[in-house]
Amino acid sequence: MQLYNTLSAEERAELIDQAGKQRLTLSFYAYAKIQDPKQFRDNLFIEWNKLDALGRTYVAKEGINAQMSVPAENLEAFRETLEAYDFMKNIRLNVAVEHDDHSFLKLTVKVRDKIVADGLNDETFDVTNIGVHLKAKEFNQILEDPNTIVVDFRNHYESEIGHFKGAITPDVETFRESLPIINEQLKNHKEDKNLVMYCTGGIRCEKASAYFKHQGFKNVFQLEGGIINYAKQIQEEGLESKFIGKNFVFDNRLGERITEDVVAQCHQCGKPCDNHTNCANDGCHLLFIQCDECKAAMENCCSSDCLEITHLPLAEQVRLRSGKQVGNKVFRKGKSENLKFKHSGELSDIALAKAQETKDIRQKIKIKKVLLGKAEHYYVKAQVGLFIIENHELTLGDKILISGPTTGNETLVLEKMLVNGNESSVAKPGDKVTFEVPFRIRLSDKLFKITN
Ligand SMILES: [Zn+2]
Ligand SMILES: [Zn+2]
Repeated sequence: MQLYNTLSAEERAELIDQAGKQRLTLSFYAYAKIQDPKQFRDNLFIEWNKLDALGRTYVAKEGINAQMSVPAENLEAFRETLEAYDFMKNIRLNVAVEHDDHSFLKLTVKVRDKIVADGLNDETFDVTNIGVHLKAKEFNQILEDPNTIVVDFRNHYESEIGHFKGAITPDVETFRESLPIINEQLKNHKEDKNLVMYCTGGIRCEKASAYFKHQGFKNVFQLEGGIINYAKQIQEEGLESKFIGKNFVFDNRLGERITEDVVAQCHQCGKPCDNHTNCANDGCHLLFIQCDECKAAMENCCSSDCLEITHLPLAEQVRLRSGKQVGNKVFRKGKSENLKFKHSGELSDIALAKAQETKDIRQKIKIKKVLLGKAEHYYVKAQVGLFIIENHELTLGDKILISGPTTGNETLVLEKMLVNGNESSVAKPGDKVTFEVPFRIRLSDKLFKITN
């Protein structure tokens, strides 16, 4: 078992900070014939674990699809673990243009039936008869052609925050839904138009292009390496970006800014905004767009119902959740009648605003801090908190941070404390500590020492 995988997200983020290595966020895929995906999976896990690689990877008999965060210094060694396999010789790694050391906080490699859930029966068509791969420059050129129809093969919540100008953006929540819709919409243009497609990293287009050629489309093209690779080429070659807004990504960043244009709105107040978030109510977890003001007012929740639930004691929240099917709601990503400004269908090509300078997605972790322990009790009348020290030492004069989903992030300087009932100036692991906390804290709030 990998060490990271046994820790909480906060603790893993902490360890990554302490290691102090710069990390790269990258993705890649390869179709192949893999005899024993289970064995393949185990081998990769062992090799990647040694390199401190984190991320989410699917392997199947048909190949591999991976999103990773790798220490920059291990990039070549990581590449070697891939090139050890013939089918990954010279594999293209789609390296992100924006990096965040916390894009992934653990390593998972899962065996699946397919590496992309496309709903296609691969036996019914030639999956190797794919479309023509286009690089960024060629892609820009073909978009100028009046005979071109460009289709976004991502889900609607992805297209909403950024897409190519003029693209058809099907109102779908899964890739498999979009295939028949597009086939029907374009059935009269199978021979006379260029069907040009793109997705995040190129993988969805590999199957989709073969499928549409099988459906009779004559001129099928796809963006090589997807938007991730397009963004990189735009930057390197100084090309015009025909993609506007943000590229939705499947790691903790939830989006990579490609241009300064904000093309989406906060789903709650309508203000220009393109930051996705997950509802803080664990029984909901809806993915939606929320501006900073609404985030503060709604405490990161999608609705007042969810907000109320997050204020209940944890045991009550768990009781409410049990027996309820939230899976379907989560699956329907941004669909909820509570979100007044959630649009469906065609999306605007006009920027609603310009982005402010890019913000760090896990800003709160950027404060240098070490985890000391957790809250055990709060004496409301006396305004005193009881904490258990689990790591390091707590000393009088320390600047501390108390952090939790409801408490938020509160800091204070420690002026007086009782250690196991007696006044003392230092507390060690195992000690029970009480001190005054001028705000309400909750059970299992985390206690940190701020070190910068
Ligand atoms: Zn808002
Ligand atoms: Zn919610």
